[in-house]
Amino acid sequence: MTSRRTRERLVERLRTGGISNPSVLAAIRDTPRHLFVDEALASRAYEDTALPIGAGQTISQPYIVARATDALLGGERLERVLEVGCGSGYQAAILSVLVSMVYAVERISSLVYRAREHLHRLGVDNVRIRHGDGALGWPEHAPYDGIIISAASEEVPGCLLEQLASDGRLIMPLGSGQNQTLISVQRTEQGFERRELESVRFVPLIGGTG
Ligand code: SAH
Repeated sequence: MTSRRTRERLVERLRTGGISNPSVLAAIRDTPRHLFVDEALASRAYEDTALPIGAGQTISQPYIVARATDALLGGERLERVLEVGCGSGYQAAILSVLVSMVYAVERISSLVYRAREHLHRLGVDNVRIRHGDGALGWPEHAPYDGIIISAASEEVPGCLLEQLASDGRLIMPLGSGQNQTLISVQRTEQGFERRELESVRFVPLIGGTG
């Protein structure tokens, strides 16, 4: 159930869905998603679906992780990336093979501990996770070449735009409930350029810590 063939099947599905970046597809193929969910759900880990991770949260659907990562990278190698809403740590693990350093913030402490464990078990040493309100970013390590928000919000958090490097890109689900669009915001010399990518469904971005 966690065999190479099962993973290849997932990658094939993502490819058919329009993900063409070979590094992103390789990262998905080589990252053991079953280690990021409860053992009881391990047999479903390579289905292209979101799954519960406790505390009412979910590990994102692989297609959306791939799409957001691809949009974030834009074919470049980024140095420093911030993830808001680290959850199980899966998206951070995918980023860790594609960028130099990942800073991740998660508001639920039990998930922070588990995410650290998952990454430690895989030997990932370029992801740092902080317990806190990610809408405030992580100013100490700013500016970021890329920011990825893994929870939906009605507006783009201003604090995060401030922490974006020039030419940097922020990817996030904008909206709420059934009505969300994955967007990309690029910082340019003139200001911020926004682009809509596709319809998505994420859990909400919530202020404060839990
Ligand atoms: N990227 C995660 C997806 C987790 S779901 C994964 O791959 O598993 C989104 C996460 O965002 C949840 O864990 C939720 O607790 C967290 N979250 C919501 N609002 C937040 C905030 N303001 N700051 C930090 N994390 C937040």
